[in-house]
Amino acid sequence: MVSPKTRDWKDLVSGSFRDLDDLLKYCKIDLPNSGCKSKPEFTLRVTRYFASLIEKGNPRDPLLLQVLPDALESQLVQGYHEDAVGDRLSIAVPGLIHKYHGRVLMTLTGACPIHCRYCFRQHFPYARNKPDCSASGEIMQYLSQNTSIKEVILSGGDPLMLSDRKLAGLISSLNRIPHINILRIHTRLLSVLPERVNATFLETLRQFNGQLVFVTHINHPNEISAHNRAAFSLLFNQGYRLLNQSVLLKNVNNCPGVLADLSERLFESRITPYYLHRLDKVQGSAHFALSLEDSCRIYEELRKQLPGYLLPSFVQEIAGQASKTPVRCTDP
Ligand SMILES: *Cc1c(COP(=O)(O)O)cnc(C)c1O
Ligand code: SF4
Repeated sequence: MVSPKTRDWKDLVSGSFRDLDDLLKYCKIDLPNSGCKSKPEFTLRVTRYFASLIEKGNPRDPLLLQVLPDALESQLVQGYHEDAVGDRLSIAVPGLIHKYHGRVLMTLTGACPIHCRYCFRQHFPYARNKPDCSASGEIMQYLSQNTSIKEVILSGGDPLMLSDRKLAGLISSLNRIPHINILRIHTRLLSVLPERVNATFLETLRQFNGQLVFVTHINHPNEISAHNRAAFSLLFNQGYRLLNQSVLLKNVNNCPGVLADLSERLFESRITPYYLHRLDKVQGSAHFALSLEDSCRIYEELRKQLPGYLLPSFVQEIAGQASKTPVRCTDP
């Protein structure tokens, strides 16, 4: 946040937990299976701020379970794939996925400030998809030529891992394309490392000529505190829309009361619940899965507990579809 004491956000990223034993020691948790190391290609990574929100001494803490490597990850489960959502088929040019009408998604970086064990992009071939975002590069050419594209989504990994200088370059290139009038940023960094919202960042965003939308990724009410709420307010007060997407996860938020709390806390933080995603069937994430029946029971109960404007749409990603697909819960 804008405060003289604030440490640089990049130092805070570097200071994240990367070692399981360090994290467990900090959380005062003694796990019998702490010998379970994460896969070398998707290591443990947690910011100190996110770790500070984990309840000390609780091995079942819903925040801890999102980041704790599990021996079950390396089991191959039938029906679970590396590219569960068919993204690789929709790569228009390296770094750009054009799957839906009017909007494209840029995979700017593979880096993230936190490694969520259920992540659907954990196997994405970032190295082979390095985006060329220069003004004359392939991406800008594609965007200039496709006048049906109105919105550019920055994604990753986490797009806010990019420096403000790089973001500024990207924004200035997008400003030159008249039909792009919405810039959407999908990020977990805002909530897990709120120091990212500093004065330079706010100034960089002001350079964009169109409308800005942030989509945060928060799964549990305990992920919101006064600290990140202050960061959300800075963005809100600058006139940006804030939406949130969550993933329905076993042992994390598979309870209507928890999800209702989450929506209410988001609302207090000026964020509108947008999507509740059914888990994508990506290899290594099966231990977070819920049956369709259980998922629908939870969502239908949630619907009864919330006003319509706080109810996220319950959707799943089906490869080859023209949009996210509403989960069809049949009448009981
Ligand atoms: C989810 C997604 C979008 C955005 O979809 P919305 O329904 O507009 O939020 C765009 N492109 C890709 C590839 C996506 O996966
Ligand atoms: S922050 Fe997003 S992209 Fe990064 S590991 Fe988590 S879910 Fe995946």
